[in-house]
Amino acid sequence: MRIVVLAGGIGGARFLRGLKQAAPDADVTVIGNTGDDIHLFGLKVCPDLDTVMYTLGGGINEEQGWGRTDESFTVKSELAAYGVGPEWFGLGDRDFATHIVRTQMLGAGYPLSAVTAALCERWQPGVRLIPMSDDRVETHVAVEVDGETKAIHFQEYWVKLRASVDAQAVVPVGADRAKPAPGVLEAIGEADVILFPPSNPVVSIGTILAVPGIREAIAEAGVPVVGLSPIVGDAPVRGMADKVLAAVGVESTAAAVAEHYGSGLLDGWLVDTVDAGSVAGVEAAGIRCRAVPLMMTDLETTATMAREALRLAEEVRA
Ligand code: GDP
Ligand code: CA
Repeated sequence: MRIVVLAGGIGGARFLRGLKQAAPDADVTVIGNTGDDIHLFGLKVCPDLDTVMYTLGGGINEEQGWGRTDESFTVKSELAAYGVGPEWFGLGDRDFATHIVRTQMLGAGYPLSAVTAALCERWQPGVRLIPMSDDRVETHVAVEVDGETKAIHFQEYWVKLRASVDAQAVVPVGADRAKPAPGVLEAIGEADVILFPPSNPVVSIGTILAVPGIREAIAEAGVPVVGLSPIVGDAPVRGMADKVLAAVGVESTAAAVAEHYGSGLLDGWLVDTVDAGSVAGVEAAGIRCRAVPLMMTDLETTATMAREALRLAEEVRA
């Protein structure tokens, strides 16, 4: 079975670990979000690609959900001693090596997709990880500061400000001119099932869908498309997804997120058991819906979520 998964960082990566356990023989292609990418200290940092790579490759800091395990911060403190920031973005020494290799390869002319494949040679994530695009796309968030609207990089909004101010708009800068990376449309076209893990619907999956051709290819693939809600009990399980959902006019409920994707894209949707009351409404919107436990507390629970998603896919296929 060929499965395509659109993934952000933590939510996507943890789900993928469960999917691999649930379907060990499946051929899984992950289309990763690169809208979170940022240049820091002259290096190209791809937080979501790395979270997927480290999580599946066994190098992730489990408690944090991002960054390397057994990490130290000597380089960062040495940079700080020179007064060189930003200090709000945590880059550890082990992690730095990844960004140095990536930046060096990009400088030598390799596209990001080839660089990602090379980095995965080391980590052996057990999936094919492809960035959504080789072209630069950077998510910016419009915020109001002292009565003036300004656009800031997504990481500044998310990590530095912790989404403490309202987002007026979320713009994937460059997406309109970006092309899907080699292999993205092919994987979608050859998929038996397409899954949306419980990743951020706006700044993770929404950004991937903003690359011209990807949304269309999924809608026209003619195979089941099933998503899992990142919103449980009317709030994000982790993070501040409610802030960016509000910016695109979507309520923070499992049902509203399903309707935001829409029946033109989604065939099936899983909500948590605490949101069982929203199942009928989602089905009325033309999306097959089931309520199952959606908290990724451990590998077995997460694998069960993946099995439920694959079961729902077979149900809509029939
Ligand atoms: P990010 O790029 O690191 O922010 O990660 P993603 O976009 O892949 O996933 C973020 C989303 O994962 C957040 O909106 C969370 O609500 C959701 N999430 C995290 N843990 C869980 C969980 O255990 N269950 C569910 N249903 N959603 C989760
Ligand atoms: Ca992210």
